[in-house]
Amino acid sequence: MKSVDRHLADILATVRPLAPLEIDLERAHGTVLAEDVASPVALPPFDNSAMDGYAVCAGDLADVPAVLPVIEDVAAGDSELRAMGPGMATRIMTGAPVPAGADAVVPVEWTDGGTARVTVHRAVSAGNAIRRSGEDVRAGDIVLREGSVIGPAQLGILAGVGRRRVLVRPRPRVVVMSTGAELAQPGTPLGRGQIWESNSFMLAAAVQEAGGEVFRAGAVTDDPKRFLESLEAQLVRADAVITSGGVSMGAYEPVKEALAPLGKVVFEKVAMQPGMPQGFGVVGDDEVPIFTLPGNPVSAFVSFMLFVEPALRKMRGLPEGPPVTVRATTTAYLRSPAGRRSYLRAVLTQDIPGSTVAPVVGQGSHQLAALASANALVVVPEDVTELPEGAEVDVIPL
Ligand code: AMP
Ligand code: MG
Repeated sequence: MKSVDRHLADILATVRPLAPLEIDLERAHGTVLAEDVASPVALPPFDNSAMDGYAVCAGDLADVPAVLPVIEDVAAGDSELRAMGPGMATRIMTGAPVPAGADAVVPVEWTDGGTARVTVHRAVSAGNAIRRSGEDVRAGDIVLREGSVIGPAQLGILAGVGRRRVLVRPRPRVVVMSTGAELAQPGTPLGRGQIWESNSFMLAAAVQEAGGEVFRAGAVTDDPKRFLESLEAQLVRADAVITSGGVSMGAYEPVKEALAPLGKVVFEKVAMQPGMPQGFGVVGDDEVPIFTLPGNPVSAFVSFMLFVEPALRKMRGLPEGPPVTVRATTTAYLRSPAGRRSYLRAVLTQDIPGSTVAPVVGQGSHQLAALASANALVVVPEDVTELPEGAEVDVIPL
């Protein structure tokens, strides 16, 4: 059997980072920056007031209370300002430019709030409540590096330096397809021998959380020809395809029957539990990567986390690597088959001084409710068949 690490290495050797493209800021959330972004101007672009109050010359307030004539009002957005000199005040709002000649802003709370004349009760030091030009960013400074994931704050600074379009690696477009003659759509009644189709919903959400854009294709029955037709129809909009079901050792395995003869998808046994039957390769003229995951929901989920998520990271242009693990102490005795790496569903409690992890009841690969109650996977190595309570283990937080 092939090892988990070998299978992941083969996948990562095939998938490529998506080509950069320029997109509008509105669509950039969750993409990965493919250029260094510099600011064309200093930020703030001009000295401005950090508070609502009065622009003054600090030296005028050596003796307080002091009374000063108010020469004008300036609001945020005003551009025509009267220069000031000693013995004057300008009523000023947050974000408004500081008039020439002023060297401090007195918050309105320290004054009587006057409009023609103002009485100031407290002295200020020079520079008080003034946001200096360039204090955040100097003109020409790089504000975001290539490879940054664009989240809310990154969108903020991109807009803040005036960018409308930006060069990014896009979210991979991923088609999710389910196969199985027994599958009924949730929301429709169950016929005899049927189960509700769950994998596509689970995998679609996993794709989105992994930074992809997902297209959930309808489930297809166990007819290889129908499967191929449906796959071909979906390929036009796919950077990757994920299927579930139809890859095991039985009869009626449409994914395997349809794709194996094309010679570009390899079906093999990977030494893991759950999720032993795996397939990976490329399809179509554009050689779109395809992950053919096993149908059992827990197997499909674990396979996604181990193989698809790292591949999507690479496609997004992020650093490669297996899922991150943490160390924890198991609260129960664990068993695992010899020669296979186990991923046991568990509840991880991260704590000081140490984290603990408790396997959930129901470790079958069909036990989706148990999976839904877990927040972590305990990794038990291939050569370990049992672990006592209190053993230190590797855990993948979900
Ligand atoms: P297969 O890999 O097609 O042999 O399926 C293995 C098991 O997973 C069977 O019990 C299927 O009924 C179940 N299964 C396959 N696909 C799905 C799906 N999309 N949603 C829920 N269960 C599924
Ligand atoms: Mg099936």
